[in-house]
Amino acid sequence: MIKLRLAVLLVAATAGLGLAVPATATAEVAPFPALALPFKAGQQVYSAGIHSDDGSTGVKNAIDFSPADRTVRAPLAGTVHLQHCAGGDWVTIDHDGGWRTGYYHMEGIEVTDGEHVEAGAELGSTGNALPCGGSSTGAHVHFTLWTLPGAPAAANWDGKSFAEVSTVVAAASGEPVDGKSIGGWRFTAGAEQYTGTATHLADNAVTQLPGRFRAKL
Ligand SMILES: [Zn+2]
Repeated sequence: MIKLRLAVLLVAATAGLGLAVPATATAEVAPFPALALPFKAGQQVYSAGIHSDDGSTGVKNAIDFSPADRTVRAPLAGTVHLQHCAGGDWVTIDHDGGWRTGYYHMEGIEVTDGEHVEAGAELGSTGNALPCGGSSTGAHVHFTLWTLPGAPAAANWDGKSFAEVSTVVAAASGEPVDGKSIGGWRFTAGAEQYTGTATHLADNAVTQLPGRFRAKL
């Protein structure tokens, strides 16, 4: 609140001089939005568990999903950004309120840069693609959470290696999966990488991760 009030004062003070106050300095991130799971509900999904973006250190902002139908979908409306690398593209979606979701390893990407998608839109297929580096040992989507206070459009990760995104960028913008409710499930990180639980909120049934659950609502 203090930051916002300061921003108003700065805008007021500089308006007469024609100076622009960058929004990135003061904007706040909205509460975690109501995301669906990034695939169609009602099917079996395997999850390798919650982990940091690079699988070894840092904030655990990632969870791997392998839905039975192999189709990755937008969990909420937003604007697609194709992050380009020498080996191809990966997808991020910017949602209202300063939230970004990421989708790595997808194959057959079906969306275009700048495209607005609604919740449930097909993004592509789970796969083993390594457009910016990294590794994959079975078709899945590496789903990640990010906060981008300020202007999301300025957060262009084109050309950034997976090694950089998963360390430097993750340290600045990665948001923990732990404690988040997504598509009627609450995800809790474990002490080790690639562990945790998925709790079905409707009946409090707990699935240990890595593991399989039926992603009903
Ligand atoms: Zn992963």
